[in-house]
Amino acid sequence: MRDEKCIFCRIANGEIPSNTLYEDDGYRVILDLGPASKGHALILPKEHYADLYELPEEAGGEVMRIAKKMAVRMKEKLGCTGLNLVQNNGESAGQTVRHFHVHLIPRYDDGSRIAGWTPGNPSEEELARVRDLICGQ
Ligand code: AMP
Ligand code: ZN
Repeated sequence: MRDEKCIFCRIANGEIPSNTLYEDDGYRVILDLGPASKGHALILPKEHYADLYELPEEAGGEVMRIAKKMAVRMKEKLGCTGLNLVQNNGESAGQTVRHFHVHLIPRYDDGSRIAGWTPGNPSEEELARVRDLICGQ
C-alpha cells in the first residue's frame, strides 16, 4: 500500500523528483538532502511500511541485497574507506520520516564524527537478566 500523504512514498514512486542512484520495481535509492557525508543515500521501498516492525521479512532481505550493491559501488566510485548502515525506528530512536528507510553513510579518513554511544558496564548477572528477558517465554 502507498500513502499519498507520505513524502517518501511520493519520492520512491517518482511523483517527487529526487537524485536517484538506483531503482527497480520495488525500491529506489536516493541521495539524502541533509547528508552526513558525501554520498549519504537512503534505500526506500516503494510500498509504505512505517518502520522495521511493519516491514515484511522478505523485504528485509531485498534491502540488504541493495545495500551490498550500493556499498560496493560507493567504495569504487567515491573512494570511501568505510560505510555505516543506519536504520532508525520510532521517535526515541531518532526516526523523523515514518516510512521505513535505511541510511547508507559513506565514511572517509577525514576524522569526522562517528555516530556512537557511551559504552555501559553491566555485570554478568545484568547481562544474563536482559538475555532472559528477550529470549525467555
Ligand atoms: P530518519 O531520521 O532516519 O527518519 O532520517 C530521515 C532522513 O531523511 C534525514 O537524513 C533527512 O535528511 C532525509 N530527508 C528528509 N526529507 C528528504 C527529502 N525530501 N529528500 C531526501 N532526503 C530527505
Ligand atoms: Zn510512505
